Amino acid sequence: MAGQGGGIYSEVPVSATGQAACVFGVSPQPGDNFRVNAQIVGEGMYGIRVPQGVSNGRIVRSDGQTLRSQEVTAMLTVWRRFHVERDSMVAMVEAEDYVKGYVRAVSPSGSGWQVTVEGSGGDSVTVVNRFLTGVMRDDVAGTTYSVLWNQGMTSGWFTAGVAGAGAPTLGRAVKFYDDDFDLTKNPPCRRPNLLPGLPDVSLAQSLFRTAYVETDDEGGTWNQTNKKFYAYVTGPLPAWRDWRSKGRSLYWIGYALASFQYSEDLCWDPDTGTANLGSTGLRLTGACVFYESIRDMGYYTERSSVSAHELGHHLTGDGWHASIASQVSALDQSQPKRRFQISRTIRPEDGFYIGSGSAVLVGNLPNRMAGTLSSYANGNGVCWLTLQADLPAAPQIGQACEVCSKSLMSPTLSGSDDVLCPAEISRIRSNSESPLY
Ligand SMILES: [Zn+2]
Repeated sequence: MAGQGGGIYSEVPVSATGQAACVFGVSPQPGDNFRVNAQIVGEGMYGIRVPQGVSNGRIVRSDGQTLRSQEVTAMLTVWRRFHVERDSMVAMVEAEDYVKGYVRAVSPSGSGWQVTVEGSGGDSVTVVNRFLTGVMRDDVAGTTYSVLWNQGMTSGWFTAGVAGAGAPTLGRAVKFYDDDFDLTKNPPCRRPNLLPGLPDVSLAQSLFRTAYVETDDEGGTWNQTNKKFYAYVTGPLPAWRDWRSKGRSLYWIGYALASFQYSEDLCWDPDTGTANLGSTGLRLTGACVFYESIRDMGYYTERSSVSAHELGHHLTGDGWHASIASQVSALDQSQPKRRFQISRTIRPEDGFYIGSGSAVLVGNLPNRMAGTLSSYANGNGVCWLTLQADLPAAPQIGQACEVCSKSLMSPTLSGSDDVLCPAEISRIRSNSESPLY
């Protein structure tokens, strides 16, 4: 019996009918290969050798003779089955997302009015300009005003700039809606066909096969669409997963929940900055896929990429992304926005770095700049990066620089990157345990 790079040996008695059988436990890592060789104990026994550096799984007799086909099995490859349970939050509960209050002061301001609002019902606002392009609605008159700006709430009060046909009425109950709502309706209401919806694992299925993992959408009663709606996933979610196994070494289990948004500051309201389209581990044992943020950012067709990215985190580790982190160490003064040096080398085997959607990230959020790599040249402990186009500004020496693989697991997910790079495949293949159990 031969494993990769070597073998194990076992003696098995032969029955009266000339058959011999024994149980052989393969290793748990997906993609491990085995061939089994049988010999009759006695004279004529021979050693076998597994040549290294061959890609056809060939094994040979150590005396140089060729093995006959009846002496050795075909290649046996370990495949792991990854059972993914999928759930969904129910449709948006509007009262969870709009912000209520009373108009306590009104004054002319620019082309509209500044209103001071006393919040009610425990609603809060933390993000400045969250309601930009949104709506304030007078609950009594049904009048709507467009929101020009808003401040965060302090001690239950906040101010906003609004514009409309007339001055807002003092004392009126009002509601503020951001673009999570269908603002063409009065009152604004939830958008149709967003939630519930089960995360699409079709892309995960095809990609993980390249790492010898077969992803199963469990279907049936495991998948439920009745989970409580949260406008933001701000704390740990209940343990909604039904599928359990008795230990990590048995079934491989994953979990994906169709949900609404991550936090108020990472949900693309207002439509600037950055948003979390998915999240793994942090607030749920499993993954959230944030349907509203995906819709809001215009990535509607990329839900399956987000699901596959988050399920990829199950298998490669929370927070692991296909990228290398470094620092800017020198600029090409003739084209500083396009060509600069980082303080480490890039290994081609870490992934194919050329041509990724936005493969080079300079600086930290929220002021991070993104560019696409055109070419790179390693030097002594450094690497010169040349981008396809100028960055908005020249990087600063010492600024963080992250170079991402063209990969589904890149920190900046983009639909053109629906591949796994070699680093991910070997990471998935080195897994022996279920991420959840
Ligand atoms: Zn990620």
